[in-house]
Amino acid sequence: MEKKQFKAESKKILDLMINSIYTHKEIFLRELISNASDAIDKIYYKALTDDSLKFDKDNYYIKIIADKDNRILKICDTGIGMTKEELDDNLGVIAKSGSLAFKEANKLKDGYDIIGQFGVGFYSAFMVADTVTVVSKALGSEEAYKWESNGVEGYTIEPCKKDSVGTEIILKIKQNTEDENFDEYLEEYRIKSIVKKYSDFVRYPIKLDVTKSKLKEGSEDEYEEYTEEEVINSMVPLWRKNKNELTEEDYENFYSEKHYGFDKPIKHIHISVDGAVSYNAILFIPEKTPYDFYTKEYEKGLELYSNGVLIMNKCGELLPDYFSFVKGIVESDDLSLNISRELLQHDRQLKLIAKNIKNKIKNELSNLLKNQREKYEKFYESFGRQLKYGIYTEFGMNKDILQDLLMFYSSKEKKMVTLDEYVSRMPEEQKYIYYAVGDSIERIDRLPQTELVADKGYEILYFTEDIDEFAIKMLAKYKDKEFRSVASGDLGIETDENTNNANEENKELFERMKKVLSGKVKDVRASKRLKRHPVCLSSEGELSIEMEKVLKSMPNSEDIKADKILEINVKHDVFKSLKEALDKDEDKFDLYTRLLYDQALLIEGLPVSDPVEFSNNICKIMM
Ligand code: ADP
Ligand code: MG
Repeated sequence: MEKKQFKAESKKILDLMINSIYTHKEIFLRELISNASDAIDKIYYKALTDDSLKFDKDNYYIKIIADKDNRILKICDTGIGMTKEELDDNLGVIAKSGSLAFKEANKLKDGYDIIGQFGVGFYSAFMVADTVTVVSKALGSEEAYKWESNGVEGYTIEPCKKDSVGTEIILKIKQNTEDENFDEYLEEYRIKSIVKKYSDFVRYPIKLDVTKSKLKEGSEDEYEEYTEEEVINSMVPLWRKNKNELTEEDYENFYSEKHYGFDKPIKHIHISVDGAVSYNAILFIPEKTPYDFYTKEYEKGLELYSNGVLIMNKCGELLPDYFSFVKGIVESDDLSLNISRELLQHDRQLKLIAKNIKNKIKNELSNLLKNQREKYEKFYESFGRQLKYGIYTEFGMNKDILQDLLMFYSSKEKKMVTLDEYVSRMPEEQKYIYYAVGDSIERIDRLPQTELVADKGYEILYFTEDIDEFAIKMLAKYKDKEFRSVASGDLGIETDENTNNANEENKELFERMKKVLSGKVKDVRASKRLKRHPVCLSSEGELSIEMEKVLKSMPNSEDIKADKILEINVKHDVFKSLKEALDKDEDKFDLYTRLLYDQALLIEGLPVSDPVEFSNNICKIMM
C-alpha cells in the first residue's frame, strides 16, 4: 500500500474548504454527482471519435446507495473511471482540475458539457464524511484501484477488485454534532430533495433505492415494505424543451414549484439564444408585489444553471435593479464555473447574458403594454414604482429604456396613460407636459393650482407617489416636451388677465403682505392661475413644494426649502376684504394675511407652523 501526503498548499485549501467555503454542506452531493456525470460525458465524447466504443444510453447512470446502519453513502457511476495515476493526480492535488485538463487535451469546443472547472468539488465530500474511499476501474484497464483518505493526513492507493468500468465514491458519514445533523444525508427524503434541488437536470438517470409498501399477499390490511429502484431526477429541464410543446399551465406549475410566488405570473418569457453567447432562460413577471419587495430584505436575482447543475440560487448580476421583480432561471453552458461570486461578477459571458435579458424584458413589457393593456396596468400597479426608481437612480442612465413604460393617471382620460399618448394628443399651442402632485387623485382633483391649466382644456398627469416628481425631474423632457408642474411659477400659458397691472396697482398691499410673511414666502403676487379659489402656493426654481415634503420626511433630512410664492386671486371677494382692511385696520390686515397663508399651506397638505395660533386667529375673526 502506498501512503502519500497531500501537498502542503492542498492541505491548507482542504482545511479552508471544509471549514468555510461552502456554507451549505449538502452541496457535496451536487459535486459528486457532477463528477459522475462528467465521467459519463467523457465516455460519450470518446465514443464520438472512437469507433470501437459504443455509447448505449441505457448503460450509463448514476446510482446512490444509502446504508443507514453502517453510515455509508455510496455514489456510483458507470463513467470513464480512473487509473492508478489518475487517482493520484486528480484526487491527490487540490485545485488541479482533471476536467479542465481533459478539455484541453481533447480540444473540446465550447458548448461541450463538462461541469466543474475549479478543481475542489471532490473534496467537499470531507465536509460530511470522516473517510472517503474511491474505488475505480478505468476504461480499457484490467485493474481496479482503491484510493482512501480521512482528509487530514494524506491518502493511500492500493489495488482492489471491481468488475465493471466506473467509479464508486464511498462516504463514511460523520457522527452528528451539537449543531450539525449528518444522519439526514442517509435519509431517502433528504437525498431526494438535494438531488431535486441541485441535480434535477443532470442528463443521466440518478437512481436511488426507494422504500415502498404494498399489501401483503393474501392479506387485506397488512402491508409489507419493499425497495424499488427509482430515477429521482427529471433530466430534461423545462427551459430546454421546445416552447411549442409547453402549455401555459406547465409554466405556471414551474412558477409555483420553484416558489417564485403565491400569485400566478402575469407573463412568462422563454428564451433560447444561440450566438455570441448561448443560453436558455425562463423568466416570469409576477402579478403581485412580494410582501418584502420594497424592503432591504428583498434580494433580486435569477437562478443560474450550467450543464443542468444549479450554480447559484440568486444571481443578482443577471438583473438590473429596475427589473428586480423578475423571477426565473438562466442556463448557460458557456460559463466558466466558479464557486466564487466575485469571479462570476466579472465574467464576460455573464455580462452579455445580462444585457440580452434586460432587452428581452424591456421588449416583453412594451408588448404587454401595447397588446394586453389591462395586464400591463396590473403589473404597473405592482411594480411601476420600481421603474420610476430606475429612471431616477444612476443619474438617469436608464431613462431611454424605461420612459416608454411609464404611466400616470390623466385628468382628462380618468385612467392611466403613457407619456406617448399624452404627447401625441397635445394641442399645437401647448408648450409643456403638465403635472400636478398630491397624495391622491381626489386631492389633486381639488387643487386650486390646476385651475388655469384645466380651464385651458389641457391634460394634467397626476403624480400621487413620492418618487414621481423626482423621476420626472430626472427625465426633464419627453419627445422634446418639457415637464411643468401646475404649481410652478411660469406655466407658459397666455392669459387675458392683466396680472401685471394688478401687481402694479396693489404694490403696497403685496409688499406689506410679504413683510408679514417674511422668511416664509419669497414673494406675494396676483395669481394668473386661480379662478375660483382665493389663494394658493406656487414655487420657483428646481425644488418644488412637493419635493420639499418628501425630502423632509426622510431620516436625517437637512432643512431644505422650496422657494414659495403666495398667489392671491384678485378677483375673489376675499381680496376686497383684504384691501379694505389695509385701509382701515392694519392689525386685521396682518391677521388676514396670516390666515390666507395658513390656508394655502393646508391646501398643499403642509402643516401650519403653529396650529394653536392658527386656531386663535380663526376665533379672532369670528368674534
Ligand atoms: P473538477 O470536477 O472541477 O475537475 P473535482 O475536485 O470535483 O474537480 O474532481 C477532480 C477530478 O477528479 C476530476 O476532474 C476528475 O478527473 C476526477 N474525478 C472525480 N470524480 C470522478 C469520477 N466519479 N469518475 C472519474 N473521475 C473523477
Ligand atoms: Mg467536480
